[in-house]
Amino acid sequence: MCCLIISGLEWRQIRSSADNIFSVRGQTVVILGLARQGIALARYLSDHGAIVRASDLRKADALGPVLTELEQYPIDFVLGEHPESLLDGTDIIFVSGGVPSNTPLLQQARERDILISNDSQLFLEKAPCKVIGITGSAGKSTSTVLAGRIADSSGCFRKAWVGGNVGNPLIADVNRMTSDDVAIMELSSFQLEIMTASPTVAVILNITPNHLDRHKTMEKYVEIKASILDGQCADDIAVLGWDDYTVRGLRERVRGRCWGFSIREHPSFLDGCHIHGDSLIIKRQGSYSQFGYQKDIHLRGEHNKLNVLAAATLAAAVGVDPEVVPAAIREFEGPPHRLEMVRDENRVRWVNDTMATTPERTLAALRSFTAPVILLLGGRDKNLPWGDLAERLKTGVKAVVIFGEAAVLIERALECEWNVPISPPAVEQDSETWSAGRETAFASEINGSEFSRAESHLSKPSAFPDLVRVKGLEEAVGKAATFAEAGDVVLLSPGCTSYDDFSDASARGERFRELVRVLS
Ligand code: ADP
Repeated sequence: MCCLIISGLEWRQIRSSADNIFSVRGQTVVILGLARQGIALARYLSDHGAIVRASDLRKADALGPVLTELEQYPIDFVLGEHPESLLDGTDIIFVSGGVPSNTPLLQQARERDILISNDSQLFLEKAPCKVIGITGSAGKSTSTVLAGRIADSSGCFRKAWVGGNVGNPLIADVNRMTSDDVAIMELSSFQLEIMTASPTVAVILNITPNHLDRHKTMEKYVEIKASILDGQCADDIAVLGWDDYTVRGLRERVRGRCWGFSIREHPSFLDGCHIHGDSLIIKRQGSYSQFGYQKDIHLRGEHNKLNVLAAATLAAAVGVDPEVVPAAIREFEGPPHRLEMVRDENRVRWVNDTMATTPERTLAALRSFTAPVILLLGGRDKNLPWGDLAERLKTGVKAVVIFGEAAVLIERALECEWNVPISPPAVEQDSETWSAGRETAFASEINGSEFSRAESHLSKPSAFPDLVRVKGLEEAVGKAATFAEAGDVVLLSPGCTSYDDFSDASARGERFRELVRVLS
């Protein structure tokens, strides 16, 4: 079917009707998960004549505001469980990103041949305008938000809609969109995992280990990211991060035109952006023009240069004149919680990078500073490799304050990479725990005993940064303050998720801001 020469929109319509879900009127649908995506879906599907059941593992008392928001709709709620009876008579089951694909109910739905979908899939089927979908292991939100600014300022579109994984589900806005608009959608692997539709312009920024606690293997994770390309047709465009070996390797899988972006020029793509000297360059069918300067980029770090190049490239791919890019990037300071300066006092800079939820992201953050760094590392691990970060910690990092659930695991990773035993000295406050022996100490911490209240300075060779393990973020900030001297950067770039202690990474960032602002 993909060989037909048809527009992206026509293609999506053909695919949708083939999937028998282009009209939801009269269909019995189940929505799993009542967070932002589920609420937007419940509204949309009810408004469009579907018979809606919604289920959430939380009970009614925890869902008060959600139920009030949806009280005007004729929705059947099944709360506190996802019973198999939900599937009786169901045509389509819509799943929120947070619901794992191996949830028993989804396995049962597959056995019964019930169509599984989500809000992003439905949006792609309904969108009346060009849609740019952005995925990757890191930099999605930054690139998505910046691309929105560029598209808005270009005058090419009646309106640029920005949404998806970055926050607001675009299905909530689709009725207000017209063919003169553009929609820019951030797509996570959790969303792509169950999607079959592709956007008109599909962007893969980079692929490094992430979410392996859910996807299990890197091969599976790469496959899910790559699937964003599979529903494209000949006149669609794929934009690939060319500096990423894995992503570049996906060019054989591109069904339409393939654009790229890279820090330095790469002869193997004909259309896309790179940097030459101080200039930002766009290449079109092999001919070059300059559209701005590196100094226009106010975001810190090489990784953010790539995010800017990605945004400029995808904007050009939908017809935006790159001349508008410099003004948009000069004013762009990045979304909150990403290398965000919280305090700069007595020549100590405190930086909130709570969104660095993988070791790779922490690496990118560390590369952004030349000053000595005191790094706050920890939270909940996602079954990711720590080796590269451990290696990088040997240079330019003055101290590492490790906290949270993954603290022991991180220590072991450092021990393994540095090839030295990291062990407690004849200790300080909690000598009892330590004297019980290292393994006992680890076990007692894992079990949440009093050991976790203690702060432990860990011995290591002098060539390595100081290491301290503390219980949580509050203690980590306090400890970092005792290390900090003029010229240092204190960086919360935890390399882990926040779910051991916070509702999400933003909540962790907000707590960090509060703790830092009240430091004397
Ligand atoms: P995402 O939306 O993919 O989670 P964000 O743009 O929100 O990515 O950035 C989250 C964190 O990832 C940032 O705080 C930064 O530490 C890191 N980061 C951002 N862009 C990149 C990139 N291109 N490569 C590596 N790390 C990045």
